[in-house]
Amino acid sequence: MKQSDCLAVNEQGHLTIGGCDTVKLAKEYGTPLYVLDESGVRAACRSYRNSIDRFYQGRGMVCYASKAFCCKEIYRIMDDEHMGIDVVSEGELYTALSVGFPAERICFHGNNKTDHELCYALEAGIGLFIVDNEYELVRLNQFAKEMGKKANISFRIKPGVDAHTHDFVRTGQIDSKFGVALETGEAMEIVCKALSLDHLVLKGVHCHIGSQIFELEPFELAAQKMIEFMAEVRDKTGYIIEELDLGGGFGICYTEKDQALQYDSYMEKVSVVVKQSCERLSFPQPFMMLEPGRSIVGPSGITLYTAGAIKEIPNIRTYAAIDGGMTDNPRYALYQSEYEAIVANKASMPKSAKVTLAGKCCESGDLLGEHMPIQPMESGDIVAVLSTGAYNYSMASNYNRLCRPAVVMVKEGSSRLIVKRESMEDLVRNDL
Ligand SMILES: *Cc1c(COP(=O)(O)O)cnc(C)c1O
Repeated sequence: MKQSDCLAVNEQGHLTIGGCDTVKLAKEYGTPLYVLDESGVRAACRSYRNSIDRFYQGRGMVCYASKAFCCKEIYRIMDDEHMGIDVVSEGELYTALSVGFPAERICFHGNNKTDHELCYALEAGIGLFIVDNEYELVRLNQFAKEMGKKANISFRIKPGVDAHTHDFVRTGQIDSKFGVALETGEAMEIVCKALSLDHLVLKGVHCHIGSQIFELEPFELAAQKMIEFMAEVRDKTGYIIEELDLGGGFGICYTEKDQALQYDSYMEKVSVVVKQSCERLSFPQPFMMLEPGRSIVGPSGITLYTAGAIKEIPNIRTYAAIDGGMTDNPRYALYQSEYEAIVANKASMPKSAKVTLAGKCCESGDLLGEHMPIQPMESGDIVAVLSTGAYNYSMASNYNRLCRPAVVMVKEGSSRLIVKRESMEDLVRNDL
C-alpha cells in the first residue's frame, strides 16, 4: 500500500484523497485536519489477512497495534474487518470495549501494566496478556486467582535480533526495556515459572523487533530463533507452546526514498522459515500472529494545514509556517522523520520550491521538515503532509494550549467526522 493509492489530482488541480477534494475538506472542517481514507485502511487489513490465508493456510490472526491510531471508529472498522487488536493501556482497552469490540480478540501489551489495568482486563475477559516480566506474571496469577479465572498469556521475548540498526546485530536487543532475553536464560526461567502457576495458561511467545523496518532478514531470523526456543521449551518441560507472534514493524513509504515491503512477501518468506524450522525440530507449526500498526493506517492518512507567515532568509532557507506543528505531528521533532508535502490547491504544479515547514509552537525544533521540495507557496495555501495516518493523532498534545485537530474519514467521495476538533472548553475542562 503506497500513499499515492488514495491520492489523486482533480480537474481544478486540487489534491484529492479517497475521491474528496482536500481544499473543500479544509474549508468544510477547518485546519489543521487529519484525513484518513477508509478504503485504504480496509485494503491494508485485507492484504495482511489474505497473506496468512495464502501462505500459512489461514492459521493465524492479524492484530492491529492500535497505538498507531486509536479512536472508536477505527475499532469498529477493525472489528468489521475481523482483525484482532493490541492495546497497551486502560485507555485503549476502554475505547475498544466502549464500541463492543470482542474481548477475546484483544491482546494486552506493555512493560508496566498497573494492578488496576490487569484487573480491568481480567474482568473484561480479554483474549491474551502479553506478559513482559516476572513482576507482572506473579501479580496477574494472583489477581486471576482472586477472581476465580484463568488468563491466557504469552511472553514478550527479546530474540536478540535488533532491526533498529540498519545492519541488524544479534545481541544489541538485550538492552531493551521490553521483555525477557533468550540468550541469558531469562526467557526459559520465566516460562518454567509460568508453567507452575495455576491461574495462567501459557499460549504463546511474542517478539517485536522494531519499527519502520524495510528488510525481511531480521524477521526471518527472529522467526527461526523463536521456533528454536519453543522446541527448547518442549525438550526441557514437555510443554508445547502453540502460538507465535512476530509483532509488527513493517515499514511504509514516507518519501520517495522509502521502498515499502509487500506484506505478501513478508508472510511468504517468514512462513517458509517457520515451516522449515518446525520440520527440522519436529515441532508442530504454531498459530501465527502479526501486529502491524503503522502499515495499517499510516499510508492512508494525510494532514491538511493552512499556510500563514512565510519568511525568506536570503541564501539560507525559507520558513513557511503552518497552523499546527509538533502538537499534531511530533515525529520530526522526535526522530527527524521525513515527510512529503504538497500544496493541495496547486497539486498539478511542479515542486519547484523548497521550504522548511514550521509549526506555530514556541520551540525552534517545531518543524515538520526541512528543505522540503514543494510547489511555490503563498500565505493562505492549503498544505498537505502525507502518510500521517499513524503515530500522529495518537501522539498529539495540547502544548501551548493548542487544540487537537479533528479527524475526518473519507470513502469513495464522501466524508464524515470521526473525531471532533477540541474546543476551548475541552482545554479547560479539568482545570480547577
Ligand atoms: C508498536 C508495536 C507494534 C506495531 O508496530 P508498527 O511499527 O506500528 O507496525 C506491534 N507490536 C508491539 C508489541 C508494538 O509495541
